[in-house]
Amino acid sequence: MNVNVSRPAPQASAQQVPQTEALVLNCMDYRLVAAVADYLDGRGLRGKYDQITLAGGAIGVMSDQTTAWAKTFWQHVALARKLHGIRKVIIIDHRDCGACKAFVSTDCADIREVETVTHMKWMEALADEIAKREPGLEVETLLMDLDGSVEAFFL
Ligand SMILES: [Zn+2]
Repeated sequence: MNVNVSRPAPQASAQQVPQTEALVLNCMDYRLVAAVADYLDGRGLRGKYDQITLAGGAIGVMSDQTTAWAKTFWQHVALARKLHGIRKVIIIDHRDCGACKAFVSTDCADIREVETVTHMKWMEALADEIAKREPGLEVETLLMDLDGSVEAFFL
């Protein structure tokens, strides 16, 4: 492969960090991939966010069973900050999550109220970790239902 390609000098200064709104963390679940994009579009964020997708969302970062994913996540957060100046991490966990059943408890989604508290707990733990490792970033914690509706939790 020939990589000796001359490129025009970039217009923007190397010091200038392009600004984008946020890094979105969401689960890989195919049922909600389009719904997550629609939800973010609805907030006017189309084309304005970085995204990392890990099974379980917050659980995928914080579970003892997925430590390699956590390393990947933190590297993405740091790079998103450096390259795009993100100001916020938007965590979108969801109901009936298979990763929650796999990594937390098989009955994770059996009782709606318990499911809510479970996801809040994991998202809150991740928000605390973000505050510790990446101070200055805002964090939003959202729980999406299978119909695409979203509940926001304020920490
Ligand atoms: Zn899931």
